[in-house]
Amino acid sequence: MKILIVGGGGREHALAWKCAQSPRVEHVYVAPGNAGTAVEQHVSNAAVAADDIDALLEFAVRHDVDLTIVGPEGPLVAGIVDRFKTAGRRCFGPTRAAARLEGSKSFAKNFLQRHAIPTASFAAFSAATFDADYVRAQRLPLVIKADGLAAGKGVVICETHEAAVTAAREMLGGSFGEAGKTIVVEEFLTGEEVSFIVVAHDQQVAVLATSQDHKRRDDADRGPNTGGMGAYSPAPLVTPALHQRIMREVIEPTLRGLRSDGHPYSGFLYAGLMIAEDGTPNVLEFNCRFGDPEAQPILMRLQSDLIDLCEAALDGKLEDLAVRWDSRAALGVVMAAGGYPDAYRTGDPIQGLDAAAHLPGKVFHAGTRAEASQVLTSGGRVLCAVGLGKRVADAQHQAYELVHAIHWNLVQYRLDIGYRAIAREVAAQAP
Ligand code: AMP
Repeated sequence: MKILIVGGGGREHALAWKCAQSPRVEHVYVAPGNAGTAVEQHVSNAAVAADDIDALLEFAVRHDVDLTIVGPEGPLVAGIVDRFKTAGRRCFGPTRAAARLEGSKSFAKNFLQRHAIPTASFAAFSAATFDADYVRAQRLPLVIKADGLAAGKGVVICETHEAAVTAAREMLGGSFGEAGKTIVVEEFLTGEEVSFIVVAHDQQVAVLATSQDHKRRDDADRGPNTGGMGAYSPAPLVTPALHQRIMREVIEPTLRGLRSDGHPYSGFLYAGLMIAEDGTPNVLEFNCRFGDPEAQPILMRLQSDLIDLCEAALDGKLEDLAVRWDSRAALGVVMAAGGYPDAYRTGDPIQGLDAAAHLPGKVFHAGTRAEASQVLTSGGRVLCAVGLGKRVADAQHQAYELVHAIHWNLVQYRLDIGYRAIAREVAAQAP
């Protein structure tokens, strides 16, 4: 089989690496890929942008691609799956209508409310309907969100009413372009966040290993929000009882709701959840694709064939499949460019990749490009170093051995990825 992976980040490197391990796969193309996918065995990059759906379809036809797996949300929300299907090409992911769960936060919030799925209370406004008095009447802190895709940056947590009104007016005034034409004003939730990711096809579900990510840039979960500074799997917070509750209260009603609304779901479905003190799994957001950086540690633990999993979903045979996992924990540390998540440097040569390649674990590339014999930084999140180990603490140790072998000018990374899980492990072992 020939596979096309759409995207060029760490998640796509992990997807390509995993697909290439399948005995059924002859070659994996990654569009556009990065310096890491360029050197994987049986993988090559295609110089096609991830959002150029016409060119991606043309590539898939020309190279006789059997299955396309879409990494990022942009092409899914823009309707890549519908286009490929119309052209008779298999493409793994939700249709444009189903991908609105991620593409529009007001759509998602209305959906959640209509189907009685737990989530923060909210109100949506356009510039014409904005009501500053409503905002001033809400409890603080308050969360203001741009409706559309904003690369993880369209969420502002406000400590004062004036900050909330200002953030809302800025978004409605165009600071996020089209994405901010509608905003969601949302109650602030407390608790601990987990990522719950499944492969779904209509009402059939294969649950992936649990994971947790760290969204804030700095240690102790402080500093600005990012696309994710690290992640680990499993998430000890998700006990079997909580797992059942998430399935019953979130995943099953979501898939039922999508079907009854006429948009059955197929593909990776990612629920970003805030687990309240009392165990209520409140939905913060849905993503219509695999998480990044969650994909890197999760795929390190996946023992089943990823192609079998995607095909079982496309063929409606998910229930026949038992997904197998490495019982070890995996933990990924994101190495980012200086300045990220604000304006960051690019073009810095990365040292130590060869030395790291001889260590246990795996370094997935994200924002990298090859030039002559060097690998240069070319994005905000540059690499994700993933370790495996019996416990999360062991996986963390292995991941940081990789991190310490690699360097570039003004590299930044957190030193504490996995700290909550490790504290839980320590507490569980205490006499
Ligand atoms: P989102 O893109 O909606 O997941 O928001 C990004 C991040 O903002 C989340 O991962 C949370 O850390 C935080 N966040 C979003 N909504 C809320 C909320 N209602 N209460 C508390 N934190 C939130």
